[in-house]
Amino acid sequence: MTPDAVVVGSGPNGLAAAVTLARAGLSVRVYEAASEPGGGARTAELTLPGFRHDVCSAVHPMALASPFFRAFGLERRIELRVPELSYAHPLDGGRAGLGWRDLHRTADELGRDGRAYARLLAPLVAYDDEVTEFTGSTLVRAPRHPLVAARFGLAALEQGSPAWNARFRDEVAPAMLTGVAAHAIRPMPGLATAGAGLVLTMHAHARGWPIPVGGSGAIVGALVDDLVAHGGEVVTDAAIDDLGALPRARAVLLDVTPRALARIAGRRLPDRYRRALGRFRYGNAAAKVDFALSGPVPWASAALAEAGTLHLGGTRDEIAAGEREVARGRHPASPYVLVSQPSILDPTRAPEGQHTLWTYTHVPAGSTLDPTEAVTRQIERFAPGFRDLVLAASARSAAEMQADNANYIGGDIASGAPTMLQLVRRPVVSPDPWRTPLRGLYLASASTPPGPGVHGLAGWHAARSALRHTFGVTVEPNLAP
Ligand SMILES: Cc1cc2nc3c(=O)[nH]c(=O)nc-3n(C[C@H](O)[C@H](O)[C@H](O)COP(=O)(O)OP(=O)(O)OC[C@H]3O[C@@H](n4cnc5c(N)ncnc54)[C@H](O)[C@@H]3O)c2cc1C
Repeated sequence: MTPDAVVVGSGPNGLAAAVTLARAGLSVRVYEAASEPGGGARTAELTLPGFRHDVCSAVHPMALASPFFRAFGLERRIELRVPELSYAHPLDGGRAGLGWRDLHRTADELGRDGRAYARLLAPLVAYDDEVTEFTGSTLVRAPRHPLVAARFGLAALEQGSPAWNARFRDEVAPAMLTGVAAHAIRPMPGLATAGAGLVLTMHAHARGWPIPVGGSGAIVGALVDDLVAHGGEVVTDAAIDDLGALPRARAVLLDVTPRALARIAGRRLPDRYRRALGRFRYGNAAAKVDFALSGPVPWASAALAEAGTLHLGGTRDEIAAGEREVARGRHPASPYVLVSQPSILDPTRAPEGQHTLWTYTHVPAGSTLDPTEAVTRQIERFAPGFRDLVLAASARSAAEMQADNANYIGGDIASGAPTMLQLVRRPVVSPDPWRTPLRGLYLASASTPPGPGVHGLAGWHAARSALRHTFGVTVEPNLAP
């Protein structure tokens, strides 16, 4: 039977799209190239038996904040553990910045920079839902809360400009902000990087940075279960290279990059739109290492033991210099390393007393370098003796990242450089960038607003556009459990 709608790609966005359509009463089939669904949100035994690692995403600031996940009731379907210490940022000499799920506690511990830090973040933390609404869709529309948007814009302008140190006197607070902003894998200071960093920092102090029990695959499990319960299906080992290979559904939603959209739809798309897709730029890359450990990481600063996430790389200047090197196509001597310690919150990840450690570092696009030694050295800097705890490690270079998932071109895990231009033009400037000029064809991936992250919002927006324009459905489907 021909389904009403087809989705290509089963990442969080593809599945969010599929669930939204199925909940509107449509029949939905998802085609996935890999042998299991989930894209950037899968969990697997990558090192040793009993050690369960997140293959891509590990920490989920948007699991509690995303309007899609809130409508879907994710919190009621899976267990999300939220650490009190959202993130930590060690510096040499045993110092560390601690980003608590409590802005005042964080500021209190920052000494003479505490007030300046609190003043920057307080207007965002107080209106986190409004900021999430504003940044969770296309920026090509009037903001619903203009004052909140203006406060957010001012903070981003400051932290994205060469004046980013003006309000601070010590090293710790600027390092903390830079460690979060560096998630964007871009040179700093920069407007888009600052904006992304401020949103994540806001979540750290508002709802927190949750870790799902069972790993990021639990989120995908909840989405697939709901889809199947409402008549949908996922077909794996099915890479789609041409629209002609799909059943003649009324709507096709692609959880792919603009490059793949141009290839899959080909000349069916108008030349102008294809040229626009050709202008879309992919960004710098990540290379990943997962560790199986015989015990907890011996951090020099004891407080770090309870951090869900850590940002390694040193001071603001040191991290910014490293990101500049990456953008120039070089591997920095002191790379930025993002670390998560899921097994301190979720004992299902490792045998009793042992731990998993999730890490990635930033590298030039297409890098084939095995990052294990560079990452190990950076962890040793802040946790002497770490090396002795490593039972096994599993590495993936940037080039291998793309081989694993076609959406991560050259290892660009954001599926398109998150530049200011590409936050507005993702991949085209439009109040509905999910809808393509080809009737019934929609783009539903992180290459559309609001960009990267496990939030399902791009897929949700694409599906709502399809419901309106292809199926004439204007009532929001109920997604609740
Ligand atoms: C190493 C790494 C760490 C990350 N860490 C985090 C984190 O901690 N927190 C966070 O929120 N985000 C994180 N992310 C980002 C997040 O995983 C992605 O932004 C998110 O998964 C994007 O969802 P998506 O559905 O758009 O695409 P993806 O999750 O990439 O899924 C796309 C799917 O489409 C399939 N596909 C592609 N082309 C085709 C085709 N032609 N035919 C059939 N199937 C196809 C792919 O196989 C894949 O399964 C990380 C990503 C990586 C790689």
